[in-house]
Amino acid sequence: MTDISQERIERAIRTTCATVLRNEHYFSDLDGLAGDGDFGTSLATGFRVIDKEWDEIPKTDIGAMLLKISMLVSKHVGGSSGPIWGTGFMKAAMLTRGKTSITLQELADMLGSAIEGIQARGGAKLGDKTLLDALIPVHEKLKEHAAGDGDVCAALCEAAAAADSAVDETRNLVAHRGRASQVGERSANTPDPGIVAIATILHDWCKDCGLAQTPNAAEVAKATA
Ligand SMILES: [Mg+2]
Repeated sequence: MTDISQERIERAIRTTCATVLRNEHYFSDLDGLAGDGDFGTSLATGFRVIDKEWDEIPKTDIGAMLLKISMLVSKHVGGSSGPIWGTGFMKAAMLTRGKTSITLQELADMLGSAIEGIQARGGAKLGDKTLLDALIPVHEKLKEHAAGDGDVCAALCEAAAAADSAVDETRNLVAHRGRASQVGERSANTPDPGIVAIATILHDWCKDCGLAQTPNAAEVAKATA
């Protein structure tokens, strides 16, 4: 059972910036299959600001850092994703005030609180073909390992695989929430770009552990290639 240091969380944020920026056009192309094609650019606009302003983001503790990131995400991520992703980071920040390291259980609790916040904010539930369809099974994996072996890297890699599976499991659903819901049936047979983004970010976190695995969903395989 090893704690997760603030340094490790900082690295995960930097990795997230790199993942989002590398896949800007690809995520927008995926969104264009059923939505308005802006998802990748919306996300990248916000994470580009985080990347550029990295040195000015407070690092006194994990909570202060995540609170600033939540504000930058809410302000700069465009479309419907800004308030949703911003809420997730804000909830995680609230649970880490004053902390410079966390346990895997605390990481699981941060994600649990983020999920509750996102559900309250967007009104989506499991099966609505939104990023929650990735985050909920990921939360389960983190909880399992927190209660079991406490292995952070194993938890992240299994979480990546769970999010990856969510891409295929939701592919044939019609979106009920988010922008893709506006095109109704046209959203069937297309992957949800938010779910692909979560899976891709987790695969890159897994690579940071030195435990890269091969994604199953074609869209995630392309994004992590
Ligand atoms: Mg869109």
